Amino acid sequence: MTHTPPEQCTAIVTGAARGIGAAVAVRLAHDGMAVGVIDLDEADCADTVDAITRSGGTATAVAADVSDESAVTQAVARIAATLGPPTVLVNNAGIGPRAELVEMSTRQWDTVTGVNLRGPFLLARSVCPYMIEAEWGRIVNMSSISAVGDAARVDYGSAKAGLIGFTKSLALQLGRHGITANAIAPGFVVSDMTRASARRLGRDFEEFRRSAAQSIPVGRVGEPEDIAHTASFLVSRAAGFVSGQVIYVAGGPVD
Ligand code: NAD
Repeated sequence: MTHTPPEQCTAIVTGAARGIGAAVAVRLAHDGMAVGVIDLDEADCADTVDAITRSGGTATAVAADVSDESAVTQAVARIAATLGPPTVLVNNAGIGPRAELVEMSTRQWDTVTGVNLRGPFLLARSVCPYMIEAEWGRIVNMSSISAVGDAARVDYGSAKAGLIGFTKSLALQLGRHGITANAIAPGFVVSDMTRASARRLGRDFEEFRRSAAQSIPVGRVGEPEDIAHTASFLVSRAAGFVSGQVIYVAGGPVD
């Protein structure tokens, strides 16, 4: 069966106030989609929304904690009412604090898995009915190279690996509705998250970034736009035969 995208596509991008999510939101707007920008604080989304509207695109900001069930339900309903039924979802919001296993509180485990894994589930469950109705949809989940193991963050590594299983399961279950689901697993990308990692380790960010680049085959770290290009392809009409995949955007292969 051939599934075709709606003429006007609405995309939801979570964690889009800054970093990778902001770059993805701007890119999808450039591709012609109206974008629902979700982040913890609506005011923090202003830069992303302004960047989109300044270049003639359409976007709206909605505050929601992606791990909060009722906040997600309300945010998705508000975006659908403002911009039209969402048929593209990029689950990008994520947190990755560091803690040794023996010092990790249960609350930290629940918070990290809540944002990185429960959040994508809540969003997908809320957005999917619109995709099924349209008989077309694209889901992209932001995993990480930490999915193959992260010595500093067992909670984060577990959630990002879980997100890959979630992605493949979605692809199997939803393909018949014209919905694809894929994961992007970024390597080191310049953002507040990697800046915070440098700070926590007491390292100067430029030095941290240069030393990371030395172990990356292409000889540089990633920029948010590197991830946005990949997301743009995965949500496009052209990517309709790509589903259940993990694309490592890491400047080289990942074991
Ligand atoms: P970032 O910290 O710069 O941005 C993350 C955004 O998510 C922030 O705007 C934050 O407010 C938002 N957010 C956090 N918790 C939220 C919640 N509960 N509800 C809604 N929004 C929330 O991070 P980034 O580097 O842009 O990372 C984006 C995604 O990419 C994350 O899922 C991260 O795990 C993943 N990732 C990043 C890197 C990297 O090197 N930067 C590498 C691999 C994977």
